[in-house]
Amino acid sequence: MSLSVKNLSKQFDSKYVLRDINLEIKAGEFLILLGPSGCGKSTFLNCVAGLESIEKEGKIFINNQNVTEKAPKDRNIAMVFQSYALYPTMTVRKNITFGLFCRGVPKAKIEQILNKTVEMLQINDLLDRKPALLSGGQRQRVAIARAMVHEPDIFLLDEPMSNLDAKLRAEMRIELKNLHRRLNSTIVFVTHDQVEAMTLATKIVVLNEGVLQQVGTPDDVYRIPVNRFVAEFIGSPGMNFIYGELVKSDQKICVQAQGVNFPVSGYEFQNSPEEGHPVILGVRPENVHATLGDRNQSTTLGIDVRVTNLENLGSDVCVFCDFHETKLIGRFLKNTEKPVYGEQICIWVDCSDCSIFSQSTEKRL
Ligand code: ADP
Ligand code: MG
Repeated sequence: MSLSVKNLSKQFDSKYVLRDINLEIKAGEFLILLGPSGCGKSTFLNCVAGLESIEKEGKIFINNQNVTEKAPKDRNIAMVFQSYALYPTMTVRKNITFGLFCRGVPKAKIEQILNKTVEMLQINDLLDRKPALLSGGQRQRVAIARAMVHEPDIFLLDEPMSNLDAKLRAEMRIELKNLHRRLNSTIVFVTHDQVEAMTLATKIVVLNEGVLQQVGTPDDVYRIPVNRFVAEFIGSPGMNFIYGELVKSDQKICVQAQGVNFPVSGYEFQNSPEEGHPVILGVRPENVHATLGDRNQSTTLGIDVRVTNLENLGSDVCVFCDFHETKLIGRFLKNTEKPVYGEQICIWVDCSDCSIFSQSTEKRL
């Protein structure tokens, strides 16, 4: 089922927490709402579910039906809360089926739905346990099962993995992705974890201070961030930012910073800014290399830097360095490139896949 949010705003104590959000979510989409803590993600889900009132301009449509005035139970939405909110005194079986029982679904039918669901989520063996005796991952699956049995049109998941350890989280990511493939349901999943967002989403929505920043595929938001905030929030280690100004050198466009010209001639400007425009050049760590190799010299520049730290990532090493006052991070292949702490080295900055933002607006140019 599709979900459409129009002009959604929300105030608490006359302060806007969400500002004029417009969003179209297609049926079967796995949408991730990503943003820092306190930016309004949970409030957004609560508004969509009908658990919070919204400002009067706002409208919510499910499959083109206006549900703005409908009660939460009439929206056919299921929500999994961050805390799971399982009933502690009930067994897993009871937790999952209680809602169906309350709705008067016949016993045989309940049993049938239960069996199908627990098999899919691989929690068949846990039916007689109480939540206290379950691991975090098992609790999460029970919470998802409890939402699934209602066969909702739309799933809303509020940071469902934040309580799990890293290994379990990676497993749950795969499980959730498989589940989505099988059910083809529409999912809105909230997280502040950009790795989760990049790996799970068919579409990412980046939110900051209640304002929608960018909507796009994981590749879009990673490669073509619309502003400095999105560029900085997505990717780990984060994007490098070099402050400078646009100049022309040999008829080619460059970003001049600290007396050198970064060659950005291949960059596709959205509008053509003037020479001298103060800009921020954004380069991902994987585009900073130890050697020129067979890289294109017309988009790659060697600069002298001092190595200030090294971080071993197993296959790669993150090299932290100072380029005058600017801090840069390069992600080098470990076996071929061996920088040493404290050394002065030359690094190669490949600008063929860079971003350029205006210093004044921090928007993409
Ligand atoms: P997130 O889920 O992104 O961390 P929330 O949606 O929970 O953010 O909160 C967004 C902002 O709204 C925060 O500043 C929070 O303090 C505020 N807020 C949330 N719920 C309420 C409430 N019921 N009353 C007043 N302020 C609230
Ligand atoms: Mg929240």
